[in-house]
Amino acid sequence: ESFDAMGLQENLLRGIYAYGFEKPSAIQQRGIVPFCKGLDVIQQAQSGTGKTATFCSGILQQLDYSLVECQALVLAPTRELAQQIEKVMRALGDYLGVKVHACVGGTSVREDQRILQSGVHVVVGTPGRVFDMLRRQSLRPDHIKMFVLDEADEMLSRGFKDQIYDIFQLLPPKIQVGVFSATMPPEALEITRKFMNKPVRILV
Ligand code: AMP
Repeated sequence: ESFDAMGLQENLLRGIYAYGFEKPSAIQQRGIVPFCKGLDVIQQAQSGTGKTATFCSGILQQLDYSLVECQALVLAPTRELAQQIEKVMRALGDYLGVKVHACVGGTSVREDQRILQSGVHVVVGTPGRVFDMLRRQSLRPDHIKMFVLDEADEMLSRGFKDQIYDIFQLLPPKIQVGVFSATMPPEALEITRKFMNKPVRILV
């Protein structure tokens, strides 16, 4: 299997190859295509398996670049991870002109508001700051059609459950949901049951 055979846009492939990836990892081989079809996907995989590029590619493939509104929201347990995902998303989407912003705690709220106001396609963030931006209506959820929880088990063990549920309530109904988690504790399963529609399960 190759990235070429996945039906990805030319400019996304260019970004993937320019980033230095030659062949998809196991999780990418199994996960990118279903995500690109708009299916809900649960991927149980450790970090280090290439999950970031899996959901970044799935998101980048499906964005409408003529609409500069937030269409995809990715939540991660730590600031560092959110910023790392932001970098990968920006690099893979370089030739597509993607606009990505990381909304994380410990940074200026005003600056977040200014960047969101100026228009982005994707927001990556930690639950607290993302919820804050939604509550202030600095982040408008109306056009969000993809929602990814990265390291879901880690977010739950850090006590973000209520905030994840609160965020979910503010998103449009019937959005595509991707859950990435190394383990599937009961609280993670509960999330998949509550928020996902006939998810495809991929275990790597
Ligand atoms: P992740 O599991 O997303 O944290 O990725 C782990 C590491 O593998 C990162 O350093 C990625 O840059 C790298 N990686 C992911 N996919 C590929 C690939 N298809 N080819 C080479 N390296 C990759």
